[in-house]
Amino acid sequence: MSAVVITIDGPSGSGKGTIAGLLAKQLGWNLLDSGALYRLLAFAARNHGIDLTNEEALKALAAHLDVQFIAASGGEGQRIILEGEEVTNDIRNEQVGAGASQVAALPAVREALLQRQRAFLEAPGLVADGRDMGTVVFPSAPLKVYLTASAEERARRRYLQLKGKVDGVSLPSLLDEIRERDERDMQRAVAPLKPASDAIQLDSTELSIEQVMERILSEVASRD
Ligand code: C5P
Repeated sequence: MSAVVITIDGPSGSGKGTIAGLLAKQLGWNLLDSGALYRLLAFAARNHGIDLTNEEALKALAAHLDVQFIAASGGEGQRIILEGEEVTNDIRNEQVGAGASQVAALPAVREALLQRQRAFLEAPGLVADGRDMGTVVFPSAPLKVYLTASAEERARRRYLQLKGKVDGVSLPSLLDEIRERDERDMQRAVAPLKPASDAIQLDSTELSIEQVMERILSEVASRD
C-alpha cells in the first residue's frame, strides 16, 4: 500500500478533531472527519423529512449523499458543502450530534458509509478521526490512537468551542448530552466506541494540544 493511515478514535470532545486536523496539516496528508459524515446524514435526513429510525431510507440517502469537503484557506480545518450549501457550522450543534449518534447505530447506514470513508485514503497518507477508525474502517492502520478525557473536561471544551457560534449553549446540558451520547456510542451493537487492541491510549484531561501532538508525532517518528 502506498498510503498509510493514522487513526484517532475517542469520545466526543476528547480533542480528536483538533488533533487530527493539525496532524493532517503538519504531515501534508488527507483528513477524514468521519463524524461529520454521520452528522451530515442526520442533517440531510431532517431536511428531506426522513425519520431517523427509517433505516432503508437513511441507507439510500447515505449512499447518494452529495457532500464536498474543501480545505479551508490557510490549511486550517475544512469547509463542508452539502447539496450545494455550506453547512460547516450548522452541523456542529449537539442536536445534530445526537441525531448523528442515532443514525450511526444503524448497521445499514454504517455499511453504506464504509467505502465512502475508505476512499479518503490517498498517498502519501490519511489521518482518520472517529469512533471506529482503528477497529472497523482501517483495522490495519500502523498507528492507532485512542484519545480520551474526563466527561467534565470534554463538556468544558465543547462549551468553549460552541459559545458564540451556536445559540443557547449551556455547560450542564452539554455535559448531560455528552454522557448520553457516550453511552449510546459505547453500548451499540455495531462498531461500538472502544479502543482497538493495538491502539495507544492517551488521556488528554491534563494535557495541552501541543503535548498531545508531541506524543503522537514521536510515535510517528518512531515508526519511520
Ligand atoms: O465526532 P462527532 O461528534 O462529530 O460524531 C458524531 C456522532 O457520529 C458520534 O456521536 C457517533 O455516534 C457517530 N460516529 C460514529 N462513528 C464514527 C464517527 C462518528 O458512529 N466513526
